[in-house]
Amino acid sequence: MTKTLAVNAGSSSLKWQMYEMPAEKVIAKGLIERIGLPDAISTVKFGETKDERTLEIPDHKTAVTILLDDLKRLKIVSDISEITGVGHRIVAGGEDFKESTVVTPEVLKKIEELAPYAPLHNPSEAVVMRVFDDILPNATSVAVFDTAFHTTMPAKAYRYPMPNKYYDKYTVRKYGAHGTSHFYVSREAAKLLGKPIEETKMITCHIGNGGSITAVKGGKSVDTSMGFTPLGGIMMGTRSGDLDPSILPFVIEQDPDIKNSQDAIDMLNKQSGLLGVSGVSSDMRDIIDNMDKNENAKLAFEMYVDRVKKFIGQYLAVLNGADALVFTAGVGENSIPFRAAVLDEMDWLGIVVDPEKNVIGATGDISLPESRVRIFVIPTDEELVIARDVERLSAAN
Ligand code: ADP
Repeated sequence: MTKTLAVNAGSSSLKWQMYEMPAEKVIAKGLIERIGLPDAISTVKFGETKDERTLEIPDHKTAVTILLDDLKRLKIVSDISEITGVGHRIVAGGEDFKESTVVTPEVLKKIEELAPYAPLHNPSEAVVMRVFDDILPNATSVAVFDTAFHTTMPAKAYRYPMPNKYYDKYTVRKYGAHGTSHFYVSREAAKLLGKPIEETKMITCHIGNGGSITAVKGGKSVDTSMGFTPLGGIMMGTRSGDLDPSILPFVIEQDPDIKNSQDAIDMLNKQSGLLGVSGVSSDMRDIIDNMDKNENAKLAFEMYVDRVKKFIGQYLAVLNGADALVFTAGVGENSIPFRAAVLDEMDWLGIVVDPEKNVIGATGDISLPESRVRIFVIPTDEELVIARDVERLSAAN
């Protein structure tokens, strides 16, 4: 039995989960938030215990040290050398990383070079990987890329209709994201369908604070809604999703608050989506609670649902129908009104939800028998995919 850590480092956070492998048992999990601020919070949950501390964590390096100290302090491990593998979620893998890989100095360098494609993520992820490698030199370190699952897209889906030099010289193309989640739920959906994954066609909807929809054929991503960056695709909590690019120079010229392209991109990433339209919140629960009394919240909900429906329609056309439509992540797993609205009036497309199954806590098949497309709610588990990849690659190493 081995202990494996799945680590997800964000720009100011570090989420982790520790597994006993190969049993796939979660031993402990935690979150370090507000890295860089004097009142950062480290939370560790194991068994019935929840340990929470507020302390100064100036950088990611300190965050890793605190996490490893916590594991010892709370007796989750008696020595950190018990950790034999660490898997890292990496946001941008570019065109090079088509699958998870054991981290070597060259791999680390490449991840750092990909920083322009994920400026808030890849640099902190690389720092975290280096610190783990220093402290746990004998543990197998594995990089699991958010983009890898989408590297099977055909050129007609991933290329943008721009002059070729932007692809040839600058590798401007669709990379997509949430690949680990789309991978996981598509495999679970194939089990529910009782078919080999190679014989399935499905549309997976990862709808959380960020969101993306993927067309999966024979287990491979053939198109996905997010684009060059996670800003593309459907409307999200704070992101606009797709819009006419001419809007960018227009707002820079017209709005004195938007001084340059960085301001414009920040506005589209952080102040748009549900938050921007509703003026209330980026959280779907708040939007739904306010819909009856606030016209803007109602409009935000309607626009959000509209974008999701349109991508499902596109991908039904791309795939020539589907065996399953899968909902996952915060909104997709939990919001009954959201699923009901997306699935409303889709019967012509062969999609018919069973209202009695579309309830709180529902998992598995929520469609009526007459639905040609099975509708599944499948809780995602990106950390488990990471832990499994560490296990698989450690064995091969
Ligand atoms: P992230 O993209 O940050 O990983 P999650 O997948 O955890 O996000 O989803 C978080 C979002 O899920 C929240 O912002 C909230 O909008 C939504 N959410 C969570 N629970 C519910 C619920 N019961 N009803 C509606 N929305 C929910």
